[in-house]
Amino acid sequence: MKIVLGIESTAHTFGIGITRGNKVLANVKKNYTTEKGGIIPVEAARHHEKHYKEIIEQALLEAKLKIENINLIAFSQGPGLSPCLRVGLQAVKELHQKYKIPFIGVNHCVAHLEVGKAVTKAKDPVLLYVSGANTQVIAFEGGKYRIFGETLDQGTGNFLDSFARYIGLGFPGGPKIAELAEKSNNYIELPYSVKGMDISFTGMLTKLKQMYDSKKYKTEDLAYSLQETAFAMLLEVAERAMAHCNKNELLLGGGVACNKRLKEMANIMCKERNAKCFIPENSLLVDNGAMIAITGAKFYNPKKKYILDIKPYERTDDV
Ligand code: AMP
Ligand code: MG
Repeated sequence: MKIVLGIESTAHTFGIGITRGNKVLANVKKNYTTEKGGIIPVEAARHHEKHYKEIIEQALLEAKLKIENINLIAFSQGPGLSPCLRVGLQAVKELHQKYKIPFIGVNHCVAHLEVGKAVTKAKDPVLLYVSGANTQVIAFEGGKYRIFGETLDQGTGNFLDSFARYIGLGFPGGPKIAELAEKSNNYIELPYSVKGMDISFTGMLTKLKQMYDSKKYKTEDLAYSLQETAFAMLLEVAERAMAHCNKNELLLGGGVACNKRLKEMANIMCKERNAKCFIPENSLLVDNGAMIAITGAKFYNPKKKYILDIKPYERTDDV
């Protein structure tokens, strides 16, 4: 069984995972964070550049391995922010040149699906992938990965973070909104925006900002209503994709899936339609290196020639 080192660097996380088969031997990461405002790509890249060597060393230490023990390097090739992706690529180049370790590039969104399949009992799930920048409903259908629904504007995490920032909660805002939401069960109606199989958050964000500014509402009620509305939209689209593809497994992925209420609502939806809900542990839901390693191991073919380059705009349906 191959020992694989996976490199994740699509956005704010620089992560190194080391796996053997589906066993995670190490999964170390460091996040670029900001006090105010969103992610600035070149600054995130600078953060990754500063830390990538120590993260690789720490992962090897945790796995009790030496770099010579690594049989394959997998790196996230896209989609993502070019400056950040380039740091991952640089790490692969260095390790490949110095130690002659073979490599493979991996699609980040597909990795969220594959790691879920590897660590849960899901066989052929519909993935609800909800992260900072991405929100997609993905399934393997007709011989390829397909997107069945997605956000038309911003990712769920960015939406949560934007509102959190607006009300002065800092970044990342998702966990802070969740904490506030737990203090309320007073639902206030918000714009519910599902268009066909796609969703959008901008209208709800504008409305929330107006409601907050009017000072007529409690912030915990806004947080609660935001979660109830946004998560219902996500699960409506996920449920329809399950019905359309005739699949009876739902898998969650992405940082927003760490949210307790989303997990609970996903479980309820699956129970009601006699389907199974699979949720990996939080460290595998957020961006991480282990998911890249596991996906690389699955697809690597020694007879194939892989290119050392990034694919910042690669779509799941192009894989
Ligand atoms: P990712 O891009 O997959 O690493 O996920 C990052 C996003 O997940 C950020 O936008 C966070 O605000 C969001 N997030 C993390 N934990 C939670 C949580 N418990 N509830 C909601 N969102 C969360
Ligand atoms: Mg992600």
